[in-house]
Amino acid sequence: MKRRLGQHFLFEPQILERIVSSAGLGREDLVVEIGPGKGRMTEMLARQAGRVIAIEYDRYLCEELKTRIGNVKNIEIVCEDVLRYPFNALPPFKVVANIPYYITTPIIFKLLEGGVRLETATLTVQKEVAERIIALPGGKDYGVLSLMVQYYTEPAILFYISRKAFVPPPKVDSAVIHLRRRERPPVIVSDEAMLFRVIKTAFSQRRKTLSNALKPLSRNIRDILEELGIDPKRRAETLTIEDFARITEALKG
Ligand code: SAH
Repeated sequence: MKRRLGQHFLFEPQILERIVSSAGLGREDLVVEIGPGKGRMTEMLARQAGRVIAIEYDRYLCEELKTRIGNVKNIEIVCEDVLRYPFNALPPFKVVANIPYYITTPIIFKLLEGGVRLETATLTVQKEVAERIIALPGGKDYGVLSLMVQYYTEPAILFYISRKAFVPPPKVDSAVIHLRRRERPPVIVSDEAMLFRVIKTAFSQRRKTLSNALKPLSRNIRDILEELGIDPKRRAETLTIEDFARITEALKG
Protein backbone atom coordinates (compact mmCIF):
# COMPACT_ATOMS: atom_id res chain seq x y z
CA MET A 1 0.00 0.00 0.00
CA LYS A 2 1.51 3.32 -1.05
CA ARG A 3 -0.15 6.22 0.75
CA ARG A 4 2.15 8.53 -1.18
CA LEU A 5 0.19 7.60 -4.32
CA GLY A 6 -3.16 8.33 -2.66
CA GLN A 7 -4.23 4.70 -2.63
CA HIS A 8 -7.73 4.30 -1.21
CA PHE A 9 -9.64 1.53 -2.93
CA LEU A 10 -13.37 1.18 -3.56
CA PHE A 11 -14.66 -2.38 -3.57
CA GLU A 12 -18.40 -2.04 -2.82
CA PRO A 13 -20.14 -3.24 -6.00
CA GLN A 14 -23.19 -1.03 -5.41
CA ILE A 15 -21.10 2.14 -5.30
CA LEU A 16 -19.01 1.13 -8.30
CA GLU A 17 -22.15 0.27 -10.27
CA ARG A 18 -23.66 3.64 -9.42
CA ILE A 19 -20.55 5.44 -10.67
CA VAL A 20 -20.40 3.41 -13.89
CA SER A 21 -24.10 3.77 -14.67
CA SER A 22 -24.05 7.54 -14.09
CA ALA A 23 -21.32 7.86 -16.73
CA GLY A 24 -23.91 6.85 -19.35
CA LEU A 25 -21.58 4.70 -21.44
CA GLY A 26 -22.28 2.89 -24.67
CA ARG A 27 -20.44 0.53 -27.00
CA GLU A 28 -19.26 3.47 -29.11
CA ASP A 29 -17.34 4.98 -26.19
CA LEU A 30 -13.64 5.06 -25.48
CA VAL A 31 -13.20 5.29 -21.71
CA VAL A 32 -10.06 6.31 -19.85
CA GLU A 33 -9.73 5.26 -16.21
CA ILE A 34 -7.09 7.11 -14.18
CA GLY A 35 -5.63 5.11 -11.27
CA PRO A 36 -7.55 1.84 -11.67
CA GLY A 37 -5.88 0.37 -8.56
CA LYS A 38 -7.11 -3.20 -8.13
CA GLY A 39 -9.22 -2.91 -11.28
CA ARG A 40 -12.68 -3.63 -9.88
CA MET A 41 -14.29 -0.78 -11.79
CA THR A 42 -12.15 -1.39 -14.87
CA GLU A 43 -13.90 -4.68 -15.52
CA MET A 44 -17.33 -3.07 -15.15
CA LEU A 45 -16.34 -0.30 -17.55
CA ALA A 46 -15.18 -2.82 -20.12
CA ARG A 47 -18.63 -4.44 -20.06
CA GLN A 48 -20.34 -1.12 -20.92
CA ALA A 49 -17.86 0.69 -23.17
CA GLY A 50 -16.24 -0.14 -26.48
CA ARG A 51 -12.70 0.21 -25.23
CA VAL A 52 -11.03 1.05 -21.89
CA ILE A 53 -7.58 2.52 -21.33
CA ALA A 54 -6.54 2.18 -17.68
CA ILE A 55 -3.55 4.29 -16.59
CA GLU A 56 -1.86 3.11 -13.37
CA TYR A 57 1.41 4.57 -12.07
CA ASP A 58 2.14 2.00 -9.36
CA ARG A 59 4.37 -0.64 -11.03
CA TYR A 60 3.24 -3.38 -8.69
CA LEU A 61 -0.48 -2.73 -9.14
CA CYS A 62 0.03 -2.34 -12.85
CA GLU A 63 1.69 -5.75 -13.20
CA GLU A 64 -1.09 -7.26 -11.09
CA LEU A 65 -3.69 -5.67 -13.39
CA LYS A 66 -1.94 -6.98 -16.47
CA THR A 67 -1.94 -10.49 -15.06
CA ARG A 68 -5.55 -10.39 -13.94
CA ILE A 69 -7.35 -8.44 -16.70
CA GLY A 70 -4.66 -7.74 -19.28
CA ASN A 71 -6.07 -10.41 -21.57
CA VAL A 72 -9.56 -8.85 -21.74
CA LYS A 73 -9.84 -7.80 -25.40
CA ASN A 74 -11.11 -4.25 -24.91
CA ILE A 75 -8.89 -3.29 -21.94
CA GLU A 76 -5.52 -1.64 -22.44
CA ILE A 77 -3.39 -1.21 -19.32
CA VAL A 78 -0.83 1.59 -19.37
CA CYS A 79 1.85 1.78 -16.66
CA GLU A 80 2.53 5.50 -16.59
CA ASP A 81 2.14 8.72 -14.62
CA VAL A 82 -1.20 10.11 -15.81
CA LEU A 83 0.30 13.62 -15.86
CA ARG A 84 2.65 12.48 -18.63
CA TYR A 85 0.04 10.64 -20.68
CA PRO A 86 -0.55 12.17 -24.18
CA PHE A 87 -4.33 12.70 -23.97
CA ASN A 88 -4.19 14.91 -27.06
CA ALA A 89 -3.37 11.84 -29.17
CA LEU A 90 -6.71 10.17 -28.31
CA PRO A 91 -9.93 10.35 -30.33
CA PRO A 92 -12.96 11.69 -28.38
CA PHE A 93 -13.12 9.94 -25.00
CA LYS A 94 -14.85 9.85 -21.62
CA VAL A 95 -13.10 9.61 -18.27
CA VAL A 96 -14.50 7.53 -15.41
CA ALA A 97 -12.23 7.37 -12.38
CA ASN A 98 -11.72 7.40 -8.66
CA ILE A 99 -8.61 9.52 -9.03
CA PRO A 100 -5.58 10.03 -6.74
CA TYR A 101 -6.59 13.10 -4.70
CA TYR A 102 -3.08 14.57 -4.35
CA ILE A 103 -3.15 15.51 -8.04
CA THR A 104 -6.85 16.31 -8.53
CA THR A 105 -6.38 19.82 -9.93
CA PRO A 106 -3.48 18.94 -12.28
CA ILE A 107 -5.52 15.98 -13.63
CA ILE A 108 -8.59 18.14 -14.27
CA PHE A 109 -6.56 20.91 -15.92
CA LYS A 110 -4.77 18.35 -18.07
CA LEU A 111 -8.11 16.97 -19.28
CA LEU A 112 -9.29 20.49 -20.19
CA GLU A 113 -6.15 21.44 -22.16
CA GLY A 114 -6.47 22.59 -25.76
CA GLY A 115 -6.47 19.70 -28.26
CA VAL A 116 -7.72 17.17 -25.71
CA ARG A 117 -11.05 15.75 -26.89
CA LEU A 118 -12.66 15.03 -23.52
CA GLU A 119 -16.45 14.58 -23.79
CA THR A 120 -17.42 13.90 -20.18
CA ALA A 121 -15.63 13.09 -16.94
CA THR A 122 -17.24 11.17 -14.08
CA LEU A 123 -14.81 11.58 -11.20
CA THR A 124 -14.68 10.63 -7.54
CA VAL A 125 -12.98 13.53 -5.80
CA GLN A 126 -12.64 14.95 -2.31
CA LYS A 127 -16.02 16.42 -1.23
CA GLU A 128 -14.55 19.89 -0.60
CA VAL A 129 -13.02 19.96 -4.08
CA ALA A 130 -16.37 18.96 -5.62
CA GLU A 131 -18.01 21.86 -3.80
CA ARG A 132 -15.37 24.29 -5.04
CA ILE A 133 -15.87 23.06 -8.60
CA ILE A 134 -19.63 23.75 -8.66
CA ALA A 135 -19.51 26.92 -6.49
CA LEU A 136 -21.27 30.07 -7.68
CA PRO A 137 -20.17 33.67 -6.90
CA GLY A 138 -20.57 34.92 -3.36
CA GLY A 139 -19.02 32.26 -1.14
CA LYS A 140 -15.63 31.10 0.04
CA ASP A 141 -15.72 27.98 -2.17
CA TYR A 142 -15.83 30.10 -5.34
CA GLY A 143 -12.46 30.69 -6.97
CA VAL A 144 -10.05 29.87 -9.80
CA LEU A 145 -11.02 26.16 -9.86
CA SER A 146 -14.76 26.97 -10.11
CA LEU A 147 -14.22 29.47 -12.91
CA MET A 148 -11.80 27.33 -14.93
CA VAL A 149 -13.92 24.19 -14.75
CA GLN A 150 -17.16 26.08 -15.42
CA TYR A 151 -15.58 27.86 -18.40
CA TYR A 152 -14.85 24.54 -20.11
CA THR A 153 -17.58 22.26 -18.72
CA GLU A 154 -20.98 22.05 -17.08
CA PRO A 155 -20.20 20.47 -13.70
CA ALA A 156 -22.59 18.74 -11.30
CA ILE A 157 -22.31 16.78 -8.06
CA LEU A 158 -24.05 13.41 -8.53
CA PHE A 159 -23.76 11.90 -5.05
CA TYR A 160 -21.54 11.68 -1.97
CA ILE A 161 -19.48 8.71 -0.74
CA SER A 162 -18.56 8.28 2.92
CA ARG A 163 -14.87 7.90 3.75
CA LYS A 164 -15.84 4.56 5.34
CA ALA A 165 -16.51 3.04 1.91
CA PHE A 166 -12.79 3.17 1.03
CA VAL A 167 -10.01 0.73 1.97
CA PRO A 168 -8.15 2.11 3.81
CA PRO A 169 -10.47 5.03 4.66
CA PRO A 170 -9.03 8.45 3.80
CA LYS A 171 -9.36 11.46 6.15
CA VAL A 172 -12.00 13.12 3.95
CA ASP A 173 -15.38 12.32 2.45
CA SER A 174 -15.82 12.11 -1.29
CA ALA A 175 -18.25 13.12 -4.01
CA VAL A 176 -18.83 11.86 -7.53
CA ILE A 177 -18.93 14.72 -10.00
CA HIS A 178 -19.88 14.82 -13.64
CA LEU A 179 -18.28 17.28 -16.07
CA ARG A 180 -19.79 17.74 -19.51
CA ARG A 181 -17.56 19.56 -21.95
CA ARG A 182 -19.26 22.67 -23.36
CA GLU A 183 -19.51 23.12 -27.10
CA ARG A 184 -18.73 26.78 -26.67
CA PRO A 185 -17.59 28.77 -23.65
CA PRO A 186 -20.13 30.71 -21.54
CA VAL A 187 -18.37 33.99 -22.41
CA ILE A 188 -16.53 34.99 -25.55
CA VAL A 189 -13.25 36.88 -25.10
CA SER A 190 -10.61 37.90 -27.63
CA ASP A 191 -7.81 36.45 -25.50
CA GLU A 192 -8.46 33.38 -23.32
CA ALA A 193 -5.02 33.42 -21.73
CA MET A 194 -5.67 37.00 -20.62
CA LEU A 195 -9.04 36.02 -19.11
CA PHE A 196 -7.34 33.31 -17.03
CA ARG A 197 -4.61 35.74 -16.00
CA VAL A 198 -7.21 38.25 -14.81
CA ILE A 199 -9.02 35.54 -12.82
CA LYS A 200 -5.82 34.18 -11.24
CA THR A 201 -4.56 37.66 -10.38
CA ALA A 202 -7.90 38.67 -8.86
CA PHE A 203 -7.94 35.61 -6.58
CA SER A 204 -4.23 35.61 -5.74
CA GLN A 205 -5.06 38.09 -2.99
CA ARG A 206 -8.59 37.02 -2.11
CA ARG A 207 -9.05 39.44 0.74
CA LYS A 208 -7.90 42.51 -1.10
CA THR A 209 -10.32 44.76 -2.95
CA LEU A 210 -10.54 44.09 -6.66
CA SER A 211 -8.69 47.26 -7.62
CA ASN A 212 -5.78 46.43 -5.30
CA ALA A 213 -5.60 42.80 -6.39
CA LEU A 214 -5.69 43.70 -10.10
CA LYS A 215 -3.21 46.58 -9.88
CA PRO A 216 -0.33 44.44 -11.30
CA LEU A 217 -2.31 44.24 -14.56
CA SER A 218 -2.87 47.98 -15.00
CA ARG A 219 -2.14 51.20 -13.16
CA ASN A 220 -5.54 52.49 -14.27
CA ILE A 221 -7.48 49.52 -13.01
CA ARG A 222 -9.61 51.71 -10.69
CA ASP A 223 -10.85 53.85 -13.58
CA ILE A 224 -11.37 50.82 -15.80
CA LEU A 225 -13.55 49.14 -13.17
CA GLU A 226 -15.54 52.29 -12.52
CA GLU A 227 -16.17 52.74 -16.22
CA LEU A 228 -17.52 49.19 -16.36
CA GLY A 229 -19.80 49.93 -13.42
CA ILE A 230 -17.96 47.43 -11.21
CA ASP A 231 -17.29 48.82 -7.73
CA PRO A 232 -13.46 48.70 -7.26
CA LYS A 233 -14.01 47.87 -3.59
CA ARG A 234 -15.68 44.55 -4.37
CA ARG A 235 -13.80 41.25 -3.78
CA ALA A 236 -12.98 38.80 -6.54
CA GLU A 237 -15.32 36.18 -5.11
CA THR A 238 -18.39 38.34 -5.87
CA LEU A 239 -17.70 38.55 -9.63
CA THR A 240 -19.35 36.40 -12.28
CA ILE A 241 -17.45 35.01 -15.25
CA GLU A 242 -19.18 37.69 -17.36
CA ASP A 243 -17.66 40.36 -15.10
CA PHE A 244 -14.20 38.84 -15.56
CA ALA A 245 -14.74 38.74 -19.32
CA ARG A 246 -15.70 42.44 -19.39
CA ILE A 247 -12.61 43.38 -17.35
CA THR A 248 -10.46 41.32 -19.74
CA GLU A 249 -11.81 43.12 -22.81
CA ALA A 250 -11.40 46.54 -21.15
CA LEU A 251 -7.77 45.75 -20.28
CA LYS A 252 -7.14 44.74 -23.91
CA GLY A 253 -8.83 47.88 -25.24
N1 SAH B 1 -9.69 3.54 -8.72
C1 SAH B 1 -9.24 2.64 -7.65
C2 SAH B 1 -8.04 3.22 -6.89
C3 SAH B 1 -8.17 4.62 -6.39
S1 SAH B 1 -6.76 5.12 -5.43
C4 SAH B 1 -10.40 2.35 -6.72
O1 SAH B 1 -11.37 3.08 -6.74
O2 SAH B 1 -10.34 1.37 -5.96
C5 SAH B 1 -5.83 6.05 -6.64
C6 SAH B 1 -5.09 5.19 -7.64
O3 SAH B 1 -4.32 6.08 -8.47
C7 SAH B 1 -4.09 4.21 -7.05
O4 SAH B 1 -4.22 2.98 -7.69
C8 SAH B 1 -2.72 4.85 -7.34
O5 SAH B 1 -1.66 3.92 -7.45
C9 SAH B 1 -3.00 5.56 -8.65
N2 SAH B 1 -2.12 6.70 -8.94
C10 SAH B 1 -1.52 7.54 -8.07
N3 SAH B 1 -0.81 8.48 -8.71
C11 SAH B 1 -0.97 8.24 -10.04
C12 SAH B 1 -0.46 8.86 -11.22
N4 SAH B 1 0.34 9.94 -11.15
N5 SAH B 1 -0.82 8.36 -12.43
C13 SAH B 1 -1.64 7.26 -12.51
N6 SAH B 1 -2.14 6.63 -11.41
C14 SAH B 1 -1.80 7.10 -10.21
